[in-house]
Amino acid sequence: MEALEMLWSYMQEDMKADRLNNSIRNSPLRQKAEKARARYGELQKAYRQIEEQTAIYADRRDALQDALSRAQAQLEAVTSRCNENPPADAEQTQAVIAEVEKLVSGLRSYESDLRRIQKESAEFVNRSAEILANAAKTRKEFEDLKEQYAAASDEKKQEYHKLRASADAKAVGIPEELMAVYNTVKKQISPPMARLVNMQCSGCNTSQPSAALRKIDAGTDIVECETCGRILIK
Ligand SMILES: [Zn+2]
Repeated sequence: MEALEMLWSYMQEDMKADRLNNSIRNSPLRQKAEKARARYGELQKAYRQIEEQTAIYADRRDALQDALSRAQAQLEAVTSRCNENPPADAEQTQAVIAEVEKLVSGLRSYESDLRRIQKESAEFVNRSAEILANAAKTRKEFEDLKEQYAAASDEKKQEYHKLRASADAKAVGIPEELMAVYNTVKKQISPPMARLVNMQCSGCNTSQPSAALRKIDAGTDIVECETCGRILIK
């Protein structure tokens, strides 16, 4: 099958281009840059979370301040009521004392909640400033690495484009269906083709059934190794 031989020769160039592309992608500089970018993303996320928390706390603080003002006003109302209309007997005095105690205890609890929230909000401010500074530093680091990577990989990328172009040139004339099978197999295993050697797939060294051997010999069908899935070629 002439087309299979063409595909085989295409594969040699395709694999060379892929190997170079992988080495570009796996360069330590690129990986460092990717890590810096991921860290930057994490920091942005942390900053957004703190901003959300800060907004929630601001709402809570407002609600507490309202409650506090209401309790203070109620206390003032009780005081002026007592000044105008002092309790007439022990029972009324007891009732006023109970009312005042309840209001004072509410006031204290609001005040203590407010102090806690103000303290935590101050910590948020510190932490968010820290995160912002860290994010700016990480972003700079990422951009420097990206630049270094681009400079270092420029030559390799040009070489890659040449290899890819030479692979593309070899693809001319290969039937589309065959190329489609090749690309599907390549997603599963690479290299996607294997020579038949001593009736075995040279990709995985599995002996092939005689039916498959006959088909490969006839050269009429695309035969894939039953074990590794590679396209087999004589
Ligand atoms: Zn195989």
